[in-house]
Amino acid sequence: MSDFTLGTRSRAELKGVHPDLVAIVQRAIVLTIQDFSVHDGIRTLAEQQRLVSGGASQTLNSRHITGHAVDLVPYINGKLRWEWPPIYHIADAMRLAAQERDTPLRWGGAWDIDFLASTEPPEDLVAGYVARRRRAGQRAFIDGPHFELPRDRYP
Ligand SMILES: [Zn+2]
Repeated sequence: MSDFTLGTRSRAELKGVHPDLVAIVQRAIVLTIQDFSVHDGIRTLAEQQRLVSGGASQTLNSRHITGHAVDLVPYINGKLRWEWPPIYHIADAMRLAAQERDTPLRWGGAWDIDFLASTEPPEDLVAGYVARRRRAGQRAFIDGPHFELPRDRYP
């Protein structure tokens, strides 16, 4: 159990996000050994268009626009840090929180797997995803801070 809590900015970012996803994030901040900040909850189409133009996102059909996705960024010494080892800790906590509630969850570190059913450490999931994409001759777009409710269960 951690002493971390969601800050004011994080709670504001969660406004409009699907309650099932909010519940997982609220549980994950208790379980995690790595503090994090909710960087992006709901996005407008205009915000999404800017991200796609800048290369930070690949789709205008983002789950952020509909309130089905959040980005959780490690918060270290007062700063947001996009760094892998701490991101893995957050993914661990999110998976555990989702498993407790039996809520399906898709992770941007390994888009193509059933994250809830997975048992490998997050870093192995990322390595597996990248290897599968390479074998298929495709680029791997990994987005470690991104978590979403899967479209097939949450249309
Ligand atoms: Zn995202």
